[in-house]
Amino acid sequence: MTTTTINLPTSKFAYKIKAVEKIHQLTRKEREKALKLSGYNPFSLSSSQVYIDLHTDSGTSALSQEQWAALMTGDESYAGSSSYEKLCHSVEDIFGYRQCIPTHQGRGAEQILLPLLLERNLGKGSPNSSLDNKVFVSNFHFDTTAAHVELTGSTAVNLVIEDAYKTDVSHPWKGNIDIEKLTLEIEQRGAHNVVALIMTVTCNSMGGQPVSMENLRLAYEVAHRHEIPVVMDAARFAENAWFIKRRDPNYANHSIKDIVFEMFKYADMMVMSAKKDAMVNIGGLCAIKDDLALYREVQVGCVVREGFPSYGGLAGRDVNCLAVGLYEAMDEDYLTARIEQVIQLGLWLLDEGIPIQYPVGGHAVFIDAGKLFPHIPSSQFPGQALANELYLEGGIRCAEIGSFLLGRDPDTGIQKDSAVELTRLAIPRRVYSNDQLRYVVECMVAIKNRAQQVHGYGFVYEPPVLRHFLAHLEPIIAS
Ligand SMILES: *Cc1c(COP(=O)(O)O)cnc(C)c1O
Repeated sequence: MTTTTINLPTSKFAYKIKAVEKIHQLTRKEREKALKLSGYNPFSLSSSQVYIDLHTDSGTSALSQEQWAALMTGDESYAGSSSYEKLCHSVEDIFGYRQCIPTHQGRGAEQILLPLLLERNLGKGSPNSSLDNKVFVSNFHFDTTAAHVELTGSTAVNLVIEDAYKTDVSHPWKGNIDIEKLTLEIEQRGAHNVVALIMTVTCNSMGGQPVSMENLRLAYEVAHRHEIPVVMDAARFAENAWFIKRRDPNYANHSIKDIVFEMFKYADMMVMSAKKDAMVNIGGLCAIKDDLALYREVQVGCVVREGFPSYGGLAGRDVNCLAVGLYEAMDEDYLTARIEQVIQLGLWLLDEGIPIQYPVGGHAVFIDAGKLFPHIPSSQFPGQALANELYLEGGIRCAEIGSFLLGRDPDTGIQKDSAVELTRLAIPRRVYSNDQLRYVVECMVAIKNRAQQVHGYGFVYEPPVLRHFLAHLEPIIAS
């Protein structure tokens, strides 16, 4: 693979910095001690121990002055808040969905909606309706989404195209669902056993890879032919639209807002973590196109779990801030600066011969740790080994996306088979400079040069669900 065929970033500058936060780097010795105490799991590090934090792009964006202003003018009324009305207007204007409920974050929406969809499915009373046969299908379930599917007792089936698993094969739409696999899955399971189709845009687990408009449309048509409801997992809706504008000539002259509106025609409802593209520190959404009965059920679910449906576990000011963030997410100058910064980091790493998921996705660069450390077996988590090395080398925090995150089959307890072992450098929005990302590249080069000496990890403590959040590990040093 050569990098010469790739256009270098053409970013317009989209913002300047108005408030800053001091950061501090620990010494190598201090970092070694901190990592050991964290159970070799950077999730458990204190932020004061981290120099450059690329752990996640979730809730870590810098707010704009307009968002700060919105925070100051939020309506804190328990019911009937004007901030909620503003949010509903934004959601209908942007996505075309008439019913909207804020939630405390994305998984708040998942925990309400997914069990309701299963209940409805079981209520259909079709033969062979045992819970064991029920599946949610998706291009790829995000980890909390898969966890909520499994909590309902159904199974999460991922049907992303095969090329998505080949990090060195270039494909413009590595987030696409494989339409043939989808059709086959529905035929083999029986349509009545497919609770819902969840389309994740962009496809986080595959490297923030975009889904094409055509794929969204085709998947929707297949699902509807079989009366399967379609849910958009919309955390990175605007970044996905930017890729459609750049990569699909049919949309080159469309506005991001028009592209977003069309994308959401190809779903019946959405769940959203607003902590990503919508650039709020906390917040989520569940919105429904026009199914009033389902909306009522979601409202009831919200009252018990999240709070009254007009605030859904958020302060009025957060709801107000979200209504503004949804629009800022679609500002094309901002999106270009944001995504091209991520792409720039990827190109720098490629130039140094570091294997990454290619092409680079929207919110993160995914390093192929399996390729970087061929001597570490999947069972010893090469992606986690790289995350730990980046911390030791430069105080950089990032996350494993591979076997460690994927976890075990809830029925058999057997480790699920991950096709790739990745380490994710997630880039917070409007937060770091290119110089800071250049430093990350220097640290990666140092690790590459001593790759042979890097070792794997095993469990000391393994939590039963979403184990990567809280697990404690220990190094496995070959004797
Ligand atoms: C972050 C994320 C979620 C979960 O949202 P939270 O706000 O973290 O609860 C769901 N789906 C996708 C694609 C995400 O990126």
